[in-house]
Amino acid sequence: MKTVIIGAGAMGSLFGGVLSLSGEEVWLVDVWEEHIDAIRSKGLAIEEKRKVQAVSVNATSDITSMGKADLILYFVKTYHTEKAVTDSLVLKKEDTVFLTLQNGLGNEESICRQVDRKKVILGVTGQGATLLGPGHIRHAGWGKTYVGELDGRITERIDRIFRMFLKAGIETEVSSRIHDLVWEKLFVNVGINALAALLGLKNGQLLDYPETMRLMETLVSEAGEVARRKGIQIESNPIDRVRAAIEATRENRCSMGQDLDRKRRTEIDAINGAVVREAERLGIPVPYNRMITDLIKVIEKTF
Ligand code: NAD
Repeated sequence: MKTVIIGAGAMGSLFGGVLSLSGEEVWLVDVWEEHIDAIRSKGLAIEEKRKVQAVSVNATSDITSMGKADLILYFVKTYHTEKAVTDSLVLKKEDTVFLTLQNGLGNEESICRQVDRKKVILGVTGQGATLLGPGHIRHAGWGKTYVGELDGRITERIDRIFRMFLKAGIETEVSSRIHDLVWEKLFVNVGINALAALLGLKNGQLLDYPETMRLMETLVSEAGEVARRKGIQIESNPIDRVRAAIEATRENRCSMGQDLDRKRRTEIDAINGAVVREAERLGIPVPYNRMITDLIKVIEKTF
């Protein structure tokens, strides 16, 4: 299976690197030429538990240079998905499959606006990675990855992707309720990211103050109510889930915090902003999510 990964930042490089190591034909595509040049000249450096491994992986900035793809995997930030999908249409053939493992809501819609939804697969991943510089990433988290067909069927193609990930050491499960899992991951981002980002806190510090606990719980409760009204099946208490995620990542500065620290655009529109949009459609008030979205948007405007 020829896999093309669009967006070879932290996560795209991680997946591309481990898939390539396992013998898969993988192409990394990124608009950041310095990064691509570094991967081509020295290999992709993957740092893991203080060891660095140089991995040979195909990489290019020219999306027209590698022919057609069997699988296209999107790992751009959510605000670039629409453009990345447009760019990737040159890779499309009759049976190409389109997969996103990005965070937040809206990626499925961005892909389905341009591609037949029967060809689209959704996923979420608990893997984590940090970009350290051109051609250099750190593997920073080892959670499970879930993939699923939009209609929940267990198909031959989803099984192939599942087996490919497993072979590369990516712990994976096929889910027949992938939309529920996207929301479950969303709860974690809704409860942690904007709050920790705004307050300049590490994730674990959110549990240290009654005020941050209260804010986190309210943000997540609002999102939980929206999910319930949309018919999303939530298996465990979303607040307990977020608390467990905070415990597990105590020392991390979340990605939105890193974005604000570096004066970069955040994924707020796909996280708390997406909760606000969904709530508006349903006529549900979500004042905390609206306020935190507005606060982040104003900070972004000052960059
Ligand atoms: P990143 O910023 O490190 O990488 C994104 C890359 O996409 C950049 O290198 C950028 O140059 C590239 N890009 C942008 N537009 C492009 C285009 N049109 N064509 C090709 N390349 C393009 O981001 P990341 O941390 O790898 O995150 C990617 C997604 O995965 C996000 O939705 C994020 O929320 C999600 N995610 C991240 C982590 C993590 O630990 N970093 C974990 C789980 C999920």
